[in-house]
Amino acid sequence: MRIVAVKTAVVEANYDHTYVRVFADNGEYGTGECFFSPGLTGIIRDLSPVLVGKDPQHIERLTRELRRAASGAGAVAGYAHNAISGMEAALCDLIGKHFRVPVWQLLGGQFRDQIRVYADCHAGEGLESWGPALLPRQPPWFQKEQARRSASTKPNDILSAEAYAAHAKETVARGFDFLKFDLDAIHGQPADILTRLLTTQEIQQMTEVVRAVRQAVGQDVQIALDCHWRYNLGDALKIARALAPFDIAWLEDPLPPESVDGFRILRESTSVPICTGENLYLREGFKPLLEQYAVNIISPDIQKTGGLWEAKRIADLAGLYEIPVAPHNISSPLGTIASCHVCSTLANFMVLEFHGTDVPFWDDLVTGVPKPLIQNGRIHVPDGPGLGVELNESVAREYAKTGEGFFEG
Ligand code: MG
Repeated sequence: MRIVAVKTAVVEANYDHTYVRVFADNGEYGTGECFFSPGLTGIIRDLSPVLVGKDPQHIERLTRELRRAASGAGAVAGYAHNAISGMEAALCDLIGKHFRVPVWQLLGGQFRDQIRVYADCHAGEGLESWGPALLPRQPPWFQKEQARRSASTKPNDILSAEAYAAHAKETVARGFDFLKFDLDAIHGQPADILTRLLTTQEIQQMTEVVRAVRQAVGQDVQIALDCHWRYNLGDALKIARALAPFDIAWLEDPLPPESVDGFRILRESTSVPICTGENLYLREGFKPLLEQYAVNIISPDIQKTGGLWEAKRIADLAGLYEIPVAPHNISSPLGTIASCHVCSTLANFMVLEFHGTDVPFWDDLVTGVPKPLIQNGRIHVPDGPGLGVELNESVAREYAKTGEGFFEG
């Protein structure tokens, strides 16, 4: 078997869902999903000659060759691995289909076949869509959805404690028992963004929101809070101390991702579990964090960090330090299912992110699995060959990004 082509397609959803498909000379193909980045389909196109003509069975070797190909451009970390992660997942799907085994079997077998997912609720309202440079945008579906909601939502209300609490209640009513909110959205941009200083009033606002959410959902629902790397160590400590009474599942990214010493000091100074990892690549990226016990939980992004196998190895490495794994995930259902295959094989899996609550066509993007994909806050891991799920191409074409090919070329 030989690889004959590598092609891409992009769906403009809440992020750019970027798919990569690897075709073999026997007519079989596999599809993977990458975390978005500027120039991503160009990176995949430029890396593709590394795969073409090779035997797709040797997934690990091919992944190393892709990393090697990117290393001259400086890719010990960064965008190239977003591309490589999707290409590796596509190889896993292809080989799973070829040998008629699910990807979870390729990865060593399961600890569980139901994957607990948490709903990322963003802020008091969830609708958002971001371009590759993380600038807000409004594709046609977004405008329709916004118009549908505008009758009942006043923009000034969405960051209030009441709005967060109402959003939490609605999400629990849909079957989720684990929620995440954006803590940093409450105050918008801090008055002093460069030094990341927070005011006492801003920390009080955060505290009121978290208190309201906790009261709204009771003690049986877990609540995680994301800070998006915005704060300095002193303010992160103040936040952690203010939120300690509310039994928080984790405080995510209160510090910039490279602040290993800062994370360690913070973790040692608070009872609130600290989580980071969505910006880190490969085992090398996680090693300093783990060796220093700098956080309580890691959150690698499986569509970014280096591939399905690399994600499993990162989790296994974390297991040596008794650190659980709660993977970050903003993917479409295809990438989410790929993540579920990995999560099913991890001894130290905690919970997987679901970030598509507010994308009206999220579930429709795949075929071959029962819908809704998430039932009672859980996803059943498919047992079919490969990822056990296929992209619904007619739906994907409907929301395809202008200017990008659709598995062409
Ligand atoms: Mg995050």
